[in-house]
Amino acid sequence: MMKCILFILITVSLTFSTVPSCHKKETNNSSSHLSYYFDNREIDYINENNININEIIPYVEFESFNVYNFYEYENLRKEKNYTYIQTLNRINYPNFYKKYVSVKPAIFTNSFLTLVNKGHYVDSSFIPNDIIALKNTNITYIKRENEIMQANKTILENYSLLEQAAKKENFNLYVFSAYRSFDKQRYIYYDINNCNDETVARPGFSEHQLGLSLDISTLEYGLTNYLKDSEEYNWLIKNAHKYGFILRYPQGKEEYTGYAYEPWHFRYVGKDVASFIYENNLTLEEYIYDYLEIK
Ligand SMILES: [Zn+2]
Repeated sequence: MMKCILFILITVSLTFSTVPSCHKKETNNSSSHLSYYFDNREIDYINENNININEIIPYVEFESFNVYNFYEYENLRKEKNYTYIQTLNRINYPNFYKKYVSVKPAIFTNSFLTLVNKGHYVDSSFIPNDIIALKNTNITYIKRENEIMQANKTILENYSLLEQAAKKENFNLYVFSAYRSFDKQRYIYYDINNCNDETVARPGFSEHQLGLSLDISTLEYGLTNYLKDSEEYNWLIKNAHKYGFILRYPQGKEEYTGYAYEPWHFRYVGKDVASFIYENNLTLEEYIYDYLEIK
């Protein structure tokens, strides 16, 4: 009897949730709706464990929802007052903030939100699409012998606007580094920094390999912490988000980013996300863990 009532409830509730039209079957059998989301074993599990269907419905839109973890999700969600996305990410991805422990391939690839950090890597063969040389733009950068500085075309278009806006305030910004290949990162990590994980990313784990980051400073301060006391920096942190950039490794956020404060390292994420991150004082890691479903 209980099973019967539950089945009716399942049918009614799931009928009102979004079922794509391609799945319309000429049947009134309730299991056809359930089976859109769950296989037979999962349906049995739902019934046998008296899972309340109204409580399961908010989860079914998420690909990463695993019905066998239902009670684990619900206990955490209610205890911490988390959103569904926060809940799913924390149960499915408990090591998200760990550094060089249970590392995973980069997530949100092929977007401006690609996450590469001490827990997420790209392969040695990864070379971003759409990178162009800075010498073919009007951007001011540090020229070095035997180096062709490159970065993603879109981020350079936006950076160029940022640089021009800074110039109107008499601030002269320079790009000190941009795209860095796997081989270059390997050289920096092993040969120059002697495998020091505190100061430099391991090859494959550097965001510079994405071509979406720029190290920005002035000629006077370069890539030093003195930059943070300059007027240029003060302007940059207040305006970078308007051009789609975030300060990637802010002070006091090491536990999330895995990096000590770097006042020069900016990352393009697009204007909307950059503004949200800026206004809510987040890092890219916190934004992803709290607002995007990790699949
Ligand atoms: Zn950097």
